[in-house]
Amino acid sequence: MKNVTCCQSHFRPQVIDDLRKYPKTRKIAKLPSRRRRGTSELLANSARVDVNGWIVIRARGTPYQVGFQNGNLLANEISDAIEALKLIGEKGYKRKWQFFCDTAMNLFWPKLTKEYMEEFQGILDGVLAKNVKNVRLQDIAALNSYFDSVSYHYWLRSKEKIATSPLARAEHCSAFIATGDGTANGQIVLAHNTWFQYLPGARYNAILDISPAAGKRFIMQTMPGTISSGTDWYLSEAGLVVAETTITGMTTFSPDESPYFLRARKAIQYAKDIDDWAKIMIKSNNGGYANDWLIGDISTGEIALLELGTFNHKMERTRNGVFVGSNIATSKEVRSETKMNYDIKESSCTARQQRLEELIQLNKGKINSKLAKVLLADHLDSSTNMDTPGRNSICGHIESDERGVPEWEYAPYYPAGCFDGKVTESSMAERGKFWAHWGRPCDIPFETEPFLHNHPEYEWQRQCLRNISPYPWTLVTPFSAPNWRNRNT
Ligand SMILES: [Zn+2]
Repeated sequence: MKNVTCCQSHFRPQVIDDLRKYPKTRKIAKLPSRRRRGTSELLANSARVDVNGWIVIRARGTPYQVGFQNGNLLANEISDAIEALKLIGEKGYKRKWQFFCDTAMNLFWPKLTKEYMEEFQGILDGVLAKNVKNVRLQDIAALNSYFDSVSYHYWLRSKEKIATSPLARAEHCSAFIATGDGTANGQIVLAHNTWFQYLPGARYNAILDISPAAGKRFIMQTMPGTISSGTDWYLSEAGLVVAETTITGMTTFSPDESPYFLRARKAIQYAKDIDDWAKIMIKSNNGGYANDWLIGDISTGEIALLELGTFNHKMERTRNGVFVGSNIATSKEVRSETKMNYDIKESSCTARQQRLEELIQLNKGKINSKLAKVLLADHLDSSTNMDTPGRNSICGHIESDERGVPEWEYAPYYPAGCFDGKVTESSMAERGKFWAHWGRPCDIPFETEPFLHNHPEYEWQRQCLRNISPYPWTLVTPFSAPNWRNRNT
């Protein structure tokens, strides 16, 4: 790599804290009421298209309008997503849903600017206008801040004297970004598949194409009812393409700073280049959902890796090279904020890191979107050298793996793993386009009934566990034909 820069802030002592310190929910500022404008007027210029397992939404207008369109066009899916998160929160994290609501409203809501408060209110009003009545503002806030609340949960647990299980955050993906000699035509190629528990993961099939009243138009994969991605797949009018993999084992957190979901949204909406984007992500960083971010700028061909811990970060950038992501911190400073044994070569993170680097090396100079789709479906476990789908394959199948994933607190055969694939390259991203594959890129489905029959220990998930059936790769094309390469001309 060349053009490498690196910087770390000093590690600050953690503050032992809990929600009792934080003020009660602020009274929401006076917001535009749905009653002032009719539903059809608020939905003007919005659209919903269901295609190959995905729900593609076009939203545009004021913050309230964008929120209303999101809420109204996805009302039933939002209610369903909240029910799924409630189940995982209560059974998985042993936290009542009210914990997520209180954390959202006490810790994160006060950090929102009026713009995003209005968007949240719009989402709620959009849902209610569809006669879906079981959703409150605090549910929308909890839905949006779920990953920040999970980080807060782990941070609280790390303060407990008696830990009942390992203290590692558990979300994960496989990804790479390449540019210059690494790719077939020198263009940027970005590829990502998302790994989550299948229970919430099956709800990440929304793609939002948002034209906000202020800032840049952007497109993201997301869960219905949210203002930022969560899987963190973004393309923006500024010519930025963004993905990430979450850093395993983070226990640090800075509750007084700005939540991840808010910084990620601001960055994609307002950044004009990589520097700008990184500045927004780093400023007032609460460490929630700490990630290895992969960013590309199709206007310049430059790519970057921002490894963002809570108190430390490292940024590398190049116009000729590759960065891979497999949920592993690479800098000793960010590693110091994690609980993870990096010497265990058969762990999912380290094995996939090795395999991704092998694949990149083997395919140097050949990588394009077509090949990237194949790499996302790779099943070789570098720790065993077996071509077996499992916890260590780029396309993850934890539910098939008797080893489980101890560093993520997954018991054997836990229903989690990869459930999608996304790929773009510069010539596509300049038109806002990308390839999207709902279901695993290898086309092996996840089927609830046979799984629960074989693994009754996960019967508690039945009410919200869904089949994840693979569809063909689909070219996601925005509702108009933007040109995002020459943003400065
Ligand atoms: Zn697979």
